[in-house]
Amino acid sequence: MSGLLKDKVAVITGAGRGIGQATAFLFAKEGAKLFLCDLDKKPLDETVSKIKSAGGIAEGIVCDVTKKEDCKKAMKAGADLGNGSIDILTNIAGITRDKILHTMSLEDWNFTLNVNLTGTFLCIQSAAPYMRDPAKEESKSGKIKTRSIINISSTSARGNIGQVNYASSKAGIIGLTKTVAKEWARFNITCNAIAPGVIETRLTQVRKEGEDFGIPEEQKQMIKMLQKQTGLARELGQPEDVAKVALFFASDLSAYVTGQVLTVAGGMIGTI
Ligand code: NAP
Repeated sequence: MSGLLKDKVAVITGAGRGIGQATAFLFAKEGAKLFLCDLDKKPLDETVSKIKSAGGIAEGIVCDVTKKEDCKKAMKAGADLGNGSIDILTNIAGITRDKILHTMSLEDWNFTLNVNLTGTFLCIQSAAPYMRDPAKEESKSGKIKTRSIINISSTSARGNIGQVNYASSKAGIIGLTKTVAKEWARFNITCNAIAPGVIETRLTQVRKEGEDFGIPEEQKQMIKMLQKQTGLARELGQPEDVAKVALFFASDLSAYVTGQVLTVAGGMIGTI
């Protein structure tokens, strides 16, 4: 452990699997006190207990980011870990409901926008009393402490066939990120976004019959071929590749960086 996040309190949503879980493991290794949120209790509890067994500090709560009351409860409980203050908010919860535009139901459109974009908004707003308010108080006594918000966009924000709902939600996250960066810069709160390309998680696994998540087998093969021909000489991106960039934005290494969107796509043409 190099202690980049030593003593910082970090709240992470979508922490039960994939990129959220990898981020939780890395932040814990770097000394953060973690408050983890997820929709499903089982993967959440497993993540919390793995961190604890490795000597880290973690608590968790089931939280649906589309519900304002859940978000408020989660941020309050997270702040309780840090004497009323949150240092890092990492909004990772997200889903896909892919369909080509002319066949997409309003339900799939609303569901995706709600989880990805409204969920991120609700978490940031619910964290305001524990990030913006203490920062405002501290500034009165001339104290400067860096706090950070990290949101997850996607290279799909630039448009992707079959993802009009997802692409719109992830493009919205860029606008949200840049606005929060401007509104809260005076409180020394940074707000940045990461735009992953194709990372191996449940969202990019080969879709099984009857499942909402994943992509068709042929698409996965095509992506792998693109990666081989145009991307960095290695396999597809892993959750840890995104977690490391989240660590940069969460730590004081990026204390003078805000309102930025960093692509994590291994240089693959077609995703950048
Ligand atoms: P994942 O493995 O499916 O993880 C997503 C997590 O979000 C799950 O733990 C899920 O909980 C949670 N979640 C979903 N809906 C939620 C809700 N309403 N409230 C709270 N938590 C909720 O997928 P991932 O690939 O790691 O995705 C993480 C983020 O990266 C997402 O925002 C995604 O859009 C983004 N991203 C991923 C890729 C990629 O290639 N994988 C690329 C670009 C961006 P449950 O397990 O309970 O459903």
